[in-house]
Amino acid sequence: MYPEPLYSSRIPVTLVKDHAYCPAIPWIRRFLGYREPRSPSMETARVDASYKEEVARELGLPRPWRIELPVQGVSIPLSGVVDIVAGDKRLTVVEVKAYKRRMDRSRHFRIQLLLYAYIVNETIGPVREAILYMQGHVYRTRVTLDLLEEARREAEKTLKTLASEEPPRPRQPRRKCSYCWYRRVCPSHY
Ligand code: SF4
Repeated sequence: MYPEPLYSSRIPVTLVKDHAYCPAIPWIRRFLGYREPRSPSMETARVDASYKEEVARELGLPRPWRIELPVQGVSIPLSGVVDIVAGDKRLTVVEVKAYKRRMDRSRHFRIQLLLYAYIVNETIGPVREAILYMQGHVYRTRVTLDLLEEARREAEKTLKTLASEEPPRPRQPRRKCSYCWYRRVCPSHY
């Protein structure tokens, strides 16, 4: 099958998030053309702009608030939409999820958030804090250069994975694969 186009010149931050969860997923999406359909529970979990404004109010974020702000990286070819960017000089970036996951299983969400922080940092102004808001649970991270660098490295790894026709064959915990929608076409399970 002819590979899916490489998302013009930029890739979505959400694809890097998927890569951080499992490198096989973005490769399957690009080269095999499979994409997990949205389930009714995913649809229910969608959050709209007014909900995000409520979150900004609840967190007492400094104004101005930019809700659902489209961003594009300068030094890395990424694009995405940041749920909330708050503040004037020292900024806060927030990713809002309508569902809760254990933090030790949420590295991919943290990478997504830090990449938004990375892009905002280089396009709007210095980001001081990044917040993951998961169904009322608040996880605050002070943004450091080391964390931004970790996120940038994941983006570079994603670009590398997507540039290769050779599939990645990651070893993931059996339990994780057992409920993965991509299992039936996954290169790790050929
Ligand atoms: S089945 Fe396992 S290795 Fe394959 S994409 Fe899913 S999580 Fe990754």
